[in-house]
Amino acid sequence: MKFGGTSVANLERIHNVARHVKREVDAGHEVAVVVSAMSGKTNELVAWVQDTPKVNGASSPFYDAREYDAVVASGEQVTSGLLAIALQSMGINARSWQGWQIPIRTDNAHGAARILEIDGSDIIKRMGEGQVAVVAGFQGIGPDNRLATLGRGGSDTSAVAIAAAVKADRCDIYTDVDGVYTTDPRIVPKARRMKKVSFEEMLEMASLGSKVLQVRSVELAMVHKVRTFVRSSFEDPDAPGMGDFLNPPGTLICDEEEIVEQEVVTGIAYAKDEAQISLRRVADRPGVSAAIFGPLAEAHINVDMIVQNISEDGSKTDMTFTVPSGDLPKAISVLDANKDKIGFDVAQSESGLAKVSVIGIGMRSHAGVLRRLSRHLPKNPSTSRRSPRRKSRSRS
Ligand code: ADP
Ligand code: ASP
Ligand code: MG
Repeated sequence: MKFGGTSVANLERIHNVARHVKREVDAGHEVAVVVSAMSGKTNELVAWVQDTPKVNGASSPFYDAREYDAVVASGEQVTSGLLAIALQSMGINARSWQGWQIPIRTDNAHGAARILEIDGSDIIKRMGEGQVAVVAGFQGIGPDNRLATLGRGGSDTSAVAIAAAVKADRCDIYTDVDGVYTTDPRIVPKARRMKKVSFEEMLEMASLGSKVLQVRSVELAMVHKVRTFVRSSFEDPDAPGMGDFLNPPGTLICDEEEIVEQEVVTGIAYAKDEAQISLRRVADRPGVSAAIFGPLAEAHINVDMIVQNISEDGSKTDMTFTVPSGDLPKAISVLDANKDKIGFDVAQSESGLAKVSVIGIGMRSHAGVLRRLSRHLPKNPSTSRRSPRRKSRSRS
């Protein structure tokens, strides 16, 4: 069972979470619980790190990532302890576990570490003795023996990884929505809740902007075949059906084979704050892509969509690609610094764009999706445009 930030936002909600856990324990299940920090807490901790005065009293964007992890991992330490206390007060045997105590071993990429290995033997033994394991999400321990965090939204990944390590029947992700919808229900109220979504579709939705699950958690669920349920923590824990083990309310993320009717389009994801860069009249020679994207990668700039148009005589090419808006100034300065090596005329850019993605495994064998999509976009001209040259605030 994993509970996100809004689900543990205060003591009253933590008590409610404890009731969900009690329901499962009373039904005879062995339970491991993963918790996030109280909502807003991680943002506050990140801001403290960023605002701490550095050299000569000036606030600098550069800081020691290991200390960033030491600070931002603390939010989950608090909620894991509080939930263990709430459970104990209900007469349930429970204890908190920090990532290093289990241990959850990660790589050395502080701030965005990947889980390498989890030794589940201790918690399996304790769960077998009837003790609920309350695990602090979002954190592990690196090869340098220091706290490492898993990137924002990383508690989902902790939960799926623990589920795989203890060979759980299932991983239930409790959050502030009652399942996965065709698109973000907070933006589009008429979005529909889905009963089942394949791992592959969920992976695409998550990586294209649906932040209901962290991308890495879906990758892990797919690789280890962890059946994952997204469901609401805000329901009354004892409402009818909440304890239905085989068919709980929510969305099941599972293998494609479990889905009988495959939709052409399952969902729509969006990402805001994208920026577009066009390098005009680049000499079209082998190795030019490496000359452009190499320095950007070294500067840790994540390039997303790439379009290349070749001039009629094939000698020059226009390279257009997108980066997160926040990285635009850095990307432009990296490109300018490498202008001679790359060989382009001019770098044009535009920020404040959005990306809309349509997802569905049925699309593999169906034509006409793009036609339907392009019929709908012009109905809202302020958010769509056809020509990349015309300026508008956002683009679909
Ligand atoms: P938690 O704190 O529990 O981890 P998150 O805020 O990370 O919760 O994720 C839940 C949120 O994901 C919802 O409040 C919703 O606004 C958003 N969301 C985005 N896309 C979807 C979608 N397709 N279906 C459901 N929720 C979505
Ligand atoms: N507390 C962390 C975050 O806000 C991890 C999580 O909530 O999943 O990113
Ligand atoms: Mg989340």
